[in-house]
Amino acid sequence: MSARPPAIELLRVTKRFGAVRAVHGVDLAVQTGEFFTLLGPSGCGKTTVLRLIAGLERPEEGEIRIAGRPVASPDRGVFVPAARRQVGMVFQNFALWPHMTVVENVAFGLQARGVSPEERRTLVRQALSLLRLDDLGERFPHELSGGQQQRVALARALVTQPQVLLMDEPLSNLDANLRAAMRTELKRLHQQLGATTVYVTHDQVEALTLSDRIAVMRNGRVVQVGTPEEVYRQPATLFVAGFVASPNLNLLQGTVQAEPRSGIRAGPFFLPGRVPAEPGLRVVVAVRPEAWRLTPDGVPLAVEQVQFTGPDLLLVGRADPHVFQIRVPADLHVGPGSRISVVPVLPQINVFDASTEVAVEFVPDELEGVPDAAAGRARP
Ligand code: ATP
Repeated sequence: MSARPPAIELLRVTKRFGAVRAVHGVDLAVQTGEFFTLLGPSGCGKTTVLRLIAGLERPEEGEIRIAGRPVASPDRGVFVPAARRQVGMVFQNFALWPHMTVVENVAFGLQARGVSPEERRTLVRQALSLLRLDDLGERFPHELSGGQQQRVALARALVTQPQVLLMDEPLSNLDANLRAAMRTELKRLHQQLGATTVYVTHDQVEALTLSDRIAVMRNGRVVQVGTPEEVYRQPATLFVAGFVASPNLNLLQGTVQAEPRSGIRAGPFFLPGRVPAEPGLRVVVAVRPEAWRLTPDGVPLAVEQVQFTGPDLLLVGRADPHVFQIRVPADLHVGPGSRISVVPVLPQINVFDASTEVAVEFVPDELEGVPDAAAGRARP
């Protein structure tokens, strides 16, 4: 017996729009019941991948399979139209019919599929209850809040009980509080229904909080697929580190040092450890704002700015010519002009080859970096 095929599979899929290669040789396998997110900056091809899965675009090359069955394959002359792919879709601009009530909006797709009125009533009632819309069935869209409208759009997609649910930035029109509430709602819904879900977003918080796995895309290609923890802690490239980790990532140019004291010299720090690369290799060391430790033995910094974020403070500290961003507990008494000293926490840093920007293995010998004595002497 062969194993169950992935719910959705893309094999070397390419899609061009004129001269633009929107999707470039993409391989993906989404497992049954997975919440799978396509994450990347604007224009990287996320929406096009989703539309290819939905059957709203045709690939020029490669093959797409749903539940093991080819639904698009130019080589085999196969193309199953959107209406026959059993996918539910929720888009950013979820147009509800303004002249129809909530119930009528949700029932619309069932009517088009010829479901009997009695079954329709049951399915709509279930979908409304699932989305906590039971009391709003008779309202018109203009009588609903943004979050409620979004839930109606979701109910409309779920009522047909699709094998696969596709969502394209469904929360982007909502304000910050509603987005957070809807994130929780989507997670609950997925846990309850277990529908295979492909979700498109450029918001790393959404991707990290919702997904079982994330595919990070850039320029039409998938650059890394992994769990939120993998993508966050072990980014495959410098781009993934910068895009997924945090907008305040600290980047230090460094050089791999040979025995007897192996490690990396990076800015004012020496990072003791082993790198399986030629000594002299130029690297970029990425240190998240939270990956520092305050210690009197560290590199002294002059605090230039303090940003209060609520749970913590984000400090901007200078050790000429370097400027670092450092997250510290909110109860630390610091202000502009304060002096602190820090070292990077080595198990939390990431190292990349400076020319290829691909991750390089780094096995720290110690838990923390230390001030680089040679760098210190070089300063006046
Ligand atoms: P966003 O987050 O801004 O929606 P995206 O990652 O979803 O971006 P796509 O919408 O998939 O990106 O677009 C990928 C590339 O293909 C972009 O360069 C875009 O301009 C181009 N593109 C998408 N659709 C079309 C189209 N119908 N005609 C021409 N070019 C298109």
